Amino acid sequence: MKITIGHLYPDLLNLYGDRGNIQCMKKRCEWRGIEAEVREFQNTDTVDFAGLDIVLLGGGSDREQMLVCEKLKLIQKSFRDYVEDHGVVIAVCGGYQLLGHYYDTDDGRIEGLSLVDIYTEQGSPRLISNIVIENEIFEYPIVGFENHGGRTFIGDNRPLGKVMFGHGNDGKSGSEGILYKNVVGTYLHGPLLPKNPHVCDYLIRNALERKYGVSELAPLDDAQEKEANRYIVERFVSN
Ligand code: GLN
Repeated sequence: MKITIGHLYPDLLNLYGDRGNIQCMKKRCEWRGIEAEVREFQNTDTVDFAGLDIVLLGGGSDREQMLVCEKLKLIQKSFRDYVEDHGVVIAVCGGYQLLGHYYDTDDGRIEGLSLVDIYTEQGSPRLISNIVIENEIFEYPIVGFENHGGRTFIGDNRPLGKVMFGHGNDGKSGSEGILYKNVVGTYLHGPLLPKNPHVCDYLIRNALERKYGVSELAPLDDAQEKEANRYIVERFVSN
């Protein structure tokens, strides 16, 4: 079996070392004997979504998002077809905001891809915090760090999780991120997947299921990752 991971615009959307998330997906495939190829797309490249199984759209500053939104317009239709066909996407921070209709900033509107029915408005202060969220579809909580000026409104869409500690989508609703078909959008940036191997496996499993109809993943020894995760949950969430 083989998984092809597409990294969109790593030179513009790589604010938090998003390559680390790619590395995590690649390694967790390889440890199971699944071949994993990574393709990086720069902003002048055409993106052949038909050849991709997982797409990563990373974080960026408002300025970089403004630049990238022009490029995204060119691939909007094929990206939408990929999403509607249950293509797997992991979109982080700036990339998450760009999945929606728009991101309104003090310097103007950044048009999004309208792949999911969400929108973002800039607010003050920035929402900066450690964050812990939970969702019963995941075996244990998801931990991370958030730093965003945007408030994202997801309407009736399914969130990635419920906020146990931190701010989440808009600082008020108690929801964080989004799940739409096989799309995961989240404000948890940096080493999201190394810190949360269960989220990494969720993406890999969905990609394998779509491509090969295989939904079982061989277990890996995540004892250290689970212990680190538990430490963070205990540190920030009072029982
Ligand atoms: N520029 C966006 C914001 O501040 C996203 C930043 C980020 O990727 N964390 O809301």
